[in-house]
Amino acid sequence: MDDQAKLETLNYFFKVHGSSTKTCHEPQEKCKRKAIRAHSIPSSTVLSYLARDGHVIMPQINLKFPPPSEISFQPIGINKATTFAGLCGHHDNVIFRPIDDSLPNTHDPEHLFLLAYRAVLREYHEVLQNAIRSQAVYNKRVEVSLSPGDVPCDFGIFATSHLVNAFECYEYKRQYDYAYLQKRWHALNYDLLVMHDQPPSIAVSSMFSLDDVAAPETQRVTLSVFPIDNAVVAAFSSTQRDTPFVKSYLSRIFAAEPYYQKYLLSKLILQSCDNFVFTPDYFNALSQAQKDAIVQFYTATLFKNADDHEDENLFLF
Ligand SMILES: [Zn+2]
Repeated sequence: MDDQAKLETLNYFFKVHGSSTKTCHEPQEKCKRKAIRAHSIPSSTVLSYLARDGHVIMPQINLKFPPPSEISFQPIGINKATTFAGLCGHHDNVIFRPIDDSLPNTHDPEHLFLLAYRAVLREYHEVLQNAIRSQAVYNKRVEVSLSPGDVPCDFGIFATSHLVNAFECYEYKRQYDYAYLQKRWHALNYDLLVMHDQPPSIAVSSMFSLDDVAAPETQRVTLSVFPIDNAVVAAFSSTQRDTPFVKSYLSRIFAAEPYYQKYLLSKLILQSCDNFVFTPDYFNALSQAQKDAIVQFYTATLFKNADDHEDENLFLF
């Protein structure tokens, strides 16, 4: 595709999908209902299981100008925790009921698919919101003559990079949409790590790209962490195209002995995931040094991974 065609495709995508912040991203793209605040981690099962007095603990960002913004881990009610306004109530219920009514069954490929699908929908919603916001700021700057509008400037380049990211994420999401509509649960590859005799400490629903992997195109993986009977499961999912890269990326974690495996998994979650909750029982029992180490590593790796950073305080399990 030449640059002009690429730009026209991006503009068309944004015209269709970037006009509303309340769109239902259901797979047939026909729904006109307004999106509600849908849970990305099931509320009545997983969040309720982890909560104390109706609360879990989540990373929360306090935006500051000038940067850097402050990150802290704070209690949040389970009605609000991990929600995103990317599905209407009807589609949230119809699509995800199988994993909302009871804890996910790791032997059911539909359940594994739905866990991954929800992480993808949430991430798509987030990056689309970022694209809408940065485009709005850029348009305002052009309107008040702070940006030229007809030649590239930093704000325009920034807005375009968010738009490209949203478009790529949309194309990725469409693979999940088609697979969902055809009930092709094995369109994805699932790698499960089961930690036995492990009390639940966190739950995760996240999609992220493998930033440090040399590959011709962006590689992505989803991660869901949730409790089952007397164990905690970390379920990774990837499209068949991305699977060889994902397997290689995760090989160190899967080959490690259980204690070190929990450490590597903890680092991966803190570096790559932004949608996770702690049970207050676990977080409040951490020493101040452990809490500080977790917050600092999470904050330091928001924009860049730090695989070489080692700290024995970074345990989420
Ligand atoms: Zn809908």
